[in-house]
Amino acid sequence: MSTETGTSKTAAARDTITPTEESFPSGLRRPRMTGRVVFVTGGTRGIGAAISRSFAEQGAAVAAGYGRDTEQAEGLLRQLEENGMTGSIHRGNVGSADDCRRTINEVIERHGRLDVLVNNAGITIDKTALKMTDEDWYKVLAVNLSGAFFMSQAALPHMLERGTGRIINISSIIGSTGNIGQANYAASKSGMFGLTKSLARETCFQLARAGKLTEDTIGLTVNAVAPGFIYTEMLQAMPEKAQERVKAQIPVGRFGRPDDVARMVHFLASDYSSFITGAVFDVNGGQDM
Ligand code: NAD
Repeated sequence: MSTETGTSKTAAARDTITPTEESFPSGLRRPRMTGRVVFVTGGTRGIGAAISRSFAEQGAAVAAGYGRDTEQAEGLLRQLEENGMTGSIHRGNVGSADDCRRTINEVIERHGRLDVLVNNAGITIDKTALKMTDEDWYKVLAVNLSGAFFMSQAALPHMLERGTGRIINISSIIGSTGNIGQANYAASKSGMFGLTKSLARETCFQLARAGKLTEDTIGLTVNAVAPGFIYTEMLQAMPEKAQERVKAQIPVGRFGRPDDVARMVHFLASDYSSFITGAVFDVNGGQDM
């Protein structure tokens, strides 16, 4: 009986959580990532900020990349440091290969190593194909897809040298389903599936060639997470009527929360996921069943 009461109380409490509310700092999670260094691109707001906080809570040093909003980035860093966590912020445009290389080097120099790279930064410029300009197309591809490639390319020599690492690409359900007005975004996100699988194969190949693919290592894995509709500023930019239409298609009956994605990323970054590589994980409330 008491268990039932406890369960219903928990359910009631859960119902009162607003979609954007994050569980930081929960104080409940075990610090499984102590000593690890994680670089999260676009790591200072939305899904990226949830991923950064989640890693920091687990004891990792978190390097958060950001594009323009220095004030927001400094706010996140302050929040981490006030809670006794270690972090750093790194400004750079992931749409520039040079910035990708510079920020990766910056992180390795600052923290001495890089264990996990989360390619999360992403943008949308939505227009039907007929109205899409050359710039709309190239810009979205440059940030969402080329950015993930150049960041990974810059991180890989260090990870291969150490024989361990994790690369996690944040794709999207739209990469599988496509969407009206999102040809550029959908192409960039499904491009991430091929990028993930190719890098997953290449890293195993390179490790084997260097004699570092042993059974007792946590390995070097590359995976993708494909979120459905997650309630962040990106989603809030959608007209309210469209939001309601989308929500009606989600079997669990709600939008995702940034933390829902962070938990999956966290699992893929952990030592327990060493047998998982080249995979794509849906976090979408059952939307594409
Ligand atoms: P957001 O707009 O709130 O955050 C995007 C982040 O990317 C920001 O921190 C921004 O600074 C950074 N960024 C953008 N352009 C950049 C650039 N050129 N250089 C460096 N940083 C840059 O978005 P979000 O909703 O938190 O989305 C995060 C990721 O998740 C994106 O890749 C997005 O495509 C993906 N995603 C989001 C949803 C959703 O419903 N919100 C669903 C599926 C996938």
